[in-house]
Amino acid sequence: METMANKIAIEKAKSSKIHDVDFDNLSFGSVYSDHMLVCDYKNGKWNTPKVVPYQPITLDPSAKIFHYGQSIFEGMKAYKDENGKVWLFRPEENCKRLNKSAQRLAIPEIPEAYFMEGLNTLIDLESEWIPQSPGSSLYIRPFVFASGNGFHASPADEYKFIIACAPSGSYFSGKVKVLIEETYSRAANGGVGYAKAGGNYAGQFYPTKLAADKGYQQVIWTDDNTHEFIEEAGAMNVFVRINDTLMTAPTSDRILDGITRKSILDIAKDEGIKTEVRKISVHELVEAAENGSLKEMFGAGTAAVVSPISGFGYHGKDYDLPDLEESYASLLKKRITDIQYNRAEDKFGWRHEVIQ
Ligand SMILES: *Cc1c(COP(=O)(O)O)cnc(C)c1O
Repeated sequence: METMANKIAIEKAKSSKIHDVDFDNLSFGSVYSDHMLVCDYKNGKWNTPKVVPYQPITLDPSAKIFHYGQSIFEGMKAYKDENGKVWLFRPEENCKRLNKSAQRLAIPEIPEAYFMEGLNTLIDLESEWIPQSPGSSLYIRPFVFASGNGFHASPADEYKFIIACAPSGSYFSGKVKVLIEETYSRAANGGVGYAKAGGNYAGQFYPTKLAADKGYQQVIWTDDNTHEFIEEAGAMNVFVRINDTLMTAPTSDRILDGITRKSILDIAKDEGIKTEVRKISVHELVEAAENGSLKEMFGAGTAAVVSPISGFGYHGKDYDLPDLEESYASLLKKRITDIQYNRAEDKFGWRHEVIQ
């Protein structure tokens, strides 16, 4: 990684909002820390990022983000251990993925040093904002959007890269009941499903609302061509346990390459759990649910880490999953969070200390 020629300037907030925040009752991503990182792309290059007080952004009504949706983001967390040290989890993977998304949406790629040094500077400055109660963390939202103007349908000539932070409590929503989606699709071959593009989420809200109206908290996306193979659980990757084998769908144009997903696969192998990365058909799920070999299903992603599924609906019928005392979901969640919070050895080299 190239290092930065210029140091990141910090403009401090006049006063801190931290004393107004009820750290014992944090919801997810709804209060923001005092500062944010801002980096502007102008005249064909990214300028040196700077840290400024968290504040609204002013844009021209013709800014291309509003019209053509050039918008991508990442989701990550900072964790504080018992000794007050601050850790990130595989941050270079978020940087790589942001640039993979950028390429697909015709957004100029962010220099890795701007991302990594910008992140370190911001998180170090905001370290008091990292809650320490069990399961809580500082949620970090890097995002890039087209700030350049014009109704002409072409890539913008100006962009903003921002990192904002939200102290967040533990993301526990209980088990969710899911609907296997057969009408709508999240992504298509050759499309943008593998990118963390804002529009992918916009397209999910309506089908998810229809599922919610029928009593399901989440949708299981299937392949857009046949709707016969499961792909993701809402905005998380999906895992299935049949007997003692843990499986997940292979990444593709349509499936986001989740960092939690690949970490879970590595940890499961390390635990001696048999894993398979392959297409999983709905037919196979129904059969396994009927003969009792379907033991678990769960979503995997940064926010909830692991989100257990209680059952699924398909063709008007509900299939319930057993309530296991010793689930892979809880074992894998514990192992991954023990690494994230520096409670266990990190044999994979995933933990990244924030330099103070
Ligand atoms: C962000 C995201 C995931 C999870 O990725 P992580 O890197 O594990 O947080 C999975 N699927 C979709 C569609 C996503 O947007």
